[in-house]
Amino acid sequence: MSEKGIYIGHYVIPKDREYYEVRNPADTRQLIAKFPKLTRDDVRAAISIAKDAFQKWSKTLPVERARILYKVADIIESRAEELAKLLTMEEGKTLPDSMFEVVRTVNLLRFYAGLITRAQGKVIPSQDKNTIILTTREPLGVIGVITPWNFPLSLPAWKIIPALATGNTVVWKPASITPTIASELVKAFYDAGLPEGVLNLVTGPANEVGNEIVTNREIDAITFTGSLQVGKEINEEIGRQNRFVRVQLELGGKNATVLTKNGDVNLAVELTVRSAFGLTGQACTATSRFLVPEDLHDEVVRKLIERTKKVVVGNGLRSGVDMGPLASREQYEKVLGYIEIGKSEGAELIYGGSPIRGSEEYDYGYFVEPTIFDNVTPDMRIAKEEIFGPVLAVMTYRTLDEAIDIVNSTEYGLIAGIITRDISEAARFAENVKVGVIKVNKPTIGLEPWVPYGGVKGSGNDVYKEMGEEAIEFFTRIKAVYIGF
Ligand code: NDP
Repeated sequence: MSEKGIYIGHYVIPKDREYYEVRNPADTRQLIAKFPKLTRDDVRAAISIAKDAFQKWSKTLPVERARILYKVADIIESRAEELAKLLTMEEGKTLPDSMFEVVRTVNLLRFYAGLITRAQGKVIPSQDKNTIILTTREPLGVIGVITPWNFPLSLPAWKIIPALATGNTVVWKPASITPTIASELVKAFYDAGLPEGVLNLVTGPANEVGNEIVTNREIDAITFTGSLQVGKEINEEIGRQNRFVRVQLELGGKNATVLTKNGDVNLAVELTVRSAFGLTGQACTATSRFLVPEDLHDEVVRKLIERTKKVVVGNGLRSGVDMGPLASREQYEKVLGYIEIGKSEGAELIYGGSPIRGSEEYDYGYFVEPTIFDNVTPDMRIAKEEIFGPVLAVMTYRTLDEAIDIVNSTEYGLIAGIITRDISEAARFAENVKVGVIKVNKPTIGLEPWVPYGGVKGSGNDVYKEMGEEAIEFFTRIKAVYIGF
């Protein structure tokens, strides 16, 4: 454990700043690090440093930026095991899941390093003779990045990498419970030769550090991922200021997997268990509703319970563990609270539902059993609200149209899965379900970094996509240049 230095260009954090503790959610006796609670003045200093750094960084050649990104990839790859372990200790997910994040970050770095050296604009034929018209893409300036804790490495990476690759500078507020892995990402950039002040990490309370990023007029664009509630607050705050600023909001989900009568029951059960309880249900892409045809209900439920019994819960560092703890006390209380809500609404608790206690491995962590509710109806809160934990609602339906209506009946629209062998069912589902991503015979969790991603309805403001080539669009503006000769 150490008091962590923080990366804000040449800025020296005033000595009187308080530090807060970051603890391991699998064993809260273990202190991971201490980070400063920065103030608005510190964030303003970081924004001003990022603004100065933009002058030079925006003029560097794409090939020079690509060289740094490739180097960051090499550094992270060479430290993969150490970083995965740190991620598990700070956030709680299993070591293989942490390693997946590390590898994904390396892939993102190499993907955008390659992409940025390719053509970014167009040549458009003119109606006039002796005229060339072309479009170029320019960086925006200082990007405010605000991120959640559940993918504390790869999710910020899929914002920060395309932002820097396109010549922007960044001020980044990570979630308060996962600043250590965040500071390691920033360190890797500076170890690779990123010029001072191009990427700045600011830690501390959301109402001060986060709010300063949202309200500061020197910020040229804001990219936020987090809950619907905070997304709405940020949207309102920006509306109040009546200013034009580019904002990307990627928010929560209430994702469903639908098994049809033409689907493979065993596959549906396997993918649903992985998508509901993997990552302790703390993935924006997690399945939290499982829709099954009435006729298959009894068979599915029996197999679901059998399969869930095999989910091993424990410290994510232990080999063989499938599901770690919840990431914080707040998460733990929220999930247990929703389990009580499910019971009081009349849903039938058929598996789990309790904290896990009774041995050294569990007594100091935020462990909860994988939990299944049956006979859940669309009007129940556990069918509508994002729980963000290992709680699965089983619901039944009669026709595919009814299933599609149920899938669409929440405020969210992030991702949905269908398990079927019938291509026309899959196509009808894909056409009529209002989400950003459809998975057919695949788990809802798991996204590829070269594929555009983003939610609709309450899952995002749906203006720009993240990841893929499309991410470049948010971080650049198009300029048209007419050249007569
Ligand atoms: P929160 O919305 O609580 O917080 C997200 C980030 O915003 C944190 O850094 C937080 O800081 C900060 N923040 C909180 N309030 C404000 C504010 N008023 N102004 C500015 N910043 C603020 O989400 P969680 O961190 O709890 O993450 C879980 C949520 O993220 C879930 O809803 C999940 O679905 C969603 N998510 C969505 C994804 C997607 O791609 N659509 C992917 C991953 C997660 P602090 O930590 O200090 O509170």
